[in-house]
Amino acid sequence: MDTNQILLAHTQYVAKFYQAYRGPLEKLIELIRYSIGEAAPAPDRVRNFLMRESTQRTLEQEWETALWRSADRTKSWRLVCLATQTDPEVAARLLAKRPPSPDCCSFCWADERGVMGALISEIDLYGNEVPAVRLHRQCARPWKLHRDLVARASGAASNIRESLL
Ligand SMILES: [Zn+2]
Repeated sequence: MDTNQILLAHTQYVAKFYQAYRGPLEKLIELIRYSIGEAAPAPDRVRNFLMRESTQRTLEQEWETALWRSADRTKSWRLVCLATQTDPEVAARLLAKRPPSPDCCSFCWADERGVMGALISEIDLYGNEVPAVRLHRQCARPWKLHRDLVARASGAASNIRESLL
């Protein structure tokens, strides 16, 4: 495995462990280096890697991991695990759960109080906003995957019911 692959894998691992990390980049670099262990590249190398837009795109598209710098006052960073469930019942439970405050992302539950524009409302099948569900742009896709999974499962269930009638 080359260094980039190792960094991608361990960034994903840290995201899975914390689910939603919010904090300074320096701390994040330390967590990733700690996860790699003795073979960890120097902090500067990790920093350059994480700050690259291409890294952030690869993480999101291939590693179910979102990484971005927030627009909050301290310019803190977010590392969010975007992995989705395959069991429709579990997905339905997660969709039904509401975070403790409307300032939190409904998917990853990170609190974005005071950060303008951090969260967007969910858009339903008909193109209408769902004001009760607020999401990071990055979290909107896994949220929708859960929605689709539950919709497909309940569609399948009603098909079975109909065929039994
Ligand atoms: Zn989120």
